[in-house]
Amino acid sequence: MTITTSSRRIFIGCLSCYNNGCICGEWKDLNDFESVDELKAWTYDYLKSNHCETEDFKCEGCDEYEIQDSEGLGNLGNYASLDEAFKRHESIKEFEDNGYDAEVYTAYINEFHEGSFEDFQDRFQGCYNSYEDYVYEYVNDVVFCDAGNNETLMRYFDYQSFGRDLSYDITELYVGNQVYILNNY
Ligand SMILES: [Zn+2]
Ligand SMILES: [Zn+2]
Repeated sequence: MTITTSSRRIFIGCLSCYNNGCICGEWKDLNDFESVDELKAWTYDYLKSNHCETEDFKCEGCDEYEIQDSEGLGNLGNYASLDEAFKRHESIKEFEDNGYDAEVYTAYINEFHEGSFEDFQDRFQGCYNSYEDYVYEYVNDVVFCDAGNNETLMRYFDYQSFGRDLSYDITELYVGNQVYILNNY
């Protein structure tokens, strides 16, 4: 199992400056912060600092930040807070620490909105080369086994129509060449 750490960055802009037509901000890599409190401390120090880009003009009373761009965090939406961005970062990190690509997290959060690794684990049934592989394994391990491996049933079993019915209970996440199977309930 390889553990990858992707870069997850946000551009923290000064909103007060932005409203004065002065674009000030910095890209920060969230891996450099131990906690959201550290990130907030950095942000408020930055707002208090002498950060205006223009020499002859200084904005007054900079006290509001805005996350103006991000990388590696999926779609954060507009007006995300530092708390939301950091929570997203920690969730992706937890996926990666457990050997899953960040793309698995992104595909997962697009379908389910809980976003926690624990919820993912509760739903996760396995990772296959195709949905048909999953159906085949499920039928062999669960259905045939429950039926005492009845030979007639095994010979005439309709995998296709069974697979269609099974698909109502699960969600397929396609990532790379693999499909991750998750229970809907
Ligand atoms: Zn400012
Ligand atoms: Zn400014």
